[in-house]
Amino acid sequence: MIGHSRPTIGNSDWKILQKVLSSARLCENGCVRGLERRLKAFIGARFALAANSGTSALHLILLGLGVTRGDRVLIPSYVCSSLLNAIMYLQAKPVVCDIDAHNYNLSFAAARPKITKKVKAIILPYMFGGTTDIDKFLELGVPLVEDCAQSLGATYRGKRLGGFGAASLFSFYATKVITTGQGGMILTNSPALFSRVKNLIEYDERQDYIVRYNYKMTDLQAALGLVQLKQLNGFIAKRRAIARYYDRAFSRYGISVAVNDPGHIYYRYVIRINSPLKQFAGRLRKKGIEAKPPVFMPLHRYLGLERKLFPNTEEVFKTALSLPIYPALTASQIKLIARSVIEAL
Ligand SMILES: *Cc1c(COP(=O)(O)O)cnc(C)c1O
Repeated sequence: MIGHSRPTIGNSDWKILQKVLSSARLCENGCVRGLERRLKAFIGARFALAANSGTSALHLILLGLGVTRGDRVLIPSYVCSSLLNAIMYLQAKPVVCDIDAHNYNLSFAAARPKITKKVKAIILPYMFGGTTDIDKFLELGVPLVEDCAQSLGATYRGKRLGGFGAASLFSFYATKVITTGQGGMILTNSPALFSRVKNLIEYDERQDYIVRYNYKMTDLQAALGLVQLKQLNGFIAKRRAIARYYDRAFSRYGISVAVNDPGHIYYRYVIRINSPLKQFAGRLRKKGIEAKPPVFMPLHRYLGLERKLFPNTEEVFKTALSLPIYPALTASQIKLIARSVIEAL
């Protein structure tokens, strides 16, 4: 079976873990600070704070921005429930918006009318490895949180995502672009925001008491992250090459929506199918290929909001299927996937 996603783990990953284990210093040590330094240099941000997941990174950012009970936070509907969770931890109110059906990201047209004084942040997830018109969102004057969990290394106007807004978060979950098993990172250019999130995570041996969060990354995770980050450019090149192969293979069939985004890293390769998705995925499974909807459930459905208020999300949810695309795929697997998709049509 060709799995839907799979991390790329090689000898250097094994070696670094052995090294950290034999050092007997497993918690927060040199590797965590090293990964923070490397990632902020790579993206071009001033400050970095490692966390144990993307969700906890997002929770800390919202806390650091002062989001509190009753405040509103804008998010798209077509994204994982992690965003909803981070907002709910604070008893804030999610303002769920429709998406742009072409790039799968938060729709500016849907978001703009929902901006009020109560909206304390916009979370903009860059879906599937590509982006949208960030400039327009920045002009709204609300702190913009860039969710780069799926788009590490992707660019907007030639600059890497993660340094545009008030803060950004990254995820190193097992299936993300690089992995530490579980892990996350906050980047920001704001010294004030950085000192607030740092204060919230450094809970031990403090003079004062406030509620703080044990969201720390371990050195085992960070060591893996350092080795993975070194390979990132190669990973991205491989993802883009696979995407170009699929593009060519599918060009005559009208199933791949051209994303037309030169900075895309193809965390996901999404095709649009007009027949029932489950049956189509079933036909692929029979050929040994696992394809999945790229988002399990739109958030407006979880929240019981009216479906007709989210026409693009609904349309995409009913037609979008994500194919395996990751550096560990072999040339013959890539060929088999493309051929099987065409046969399954
Ligand atoms: C994975 C993901 C997250 C959450 O990251 P975790 O490390 O799994 O907590 C947040 N936003 C998006 C867009 C993601 O894909």
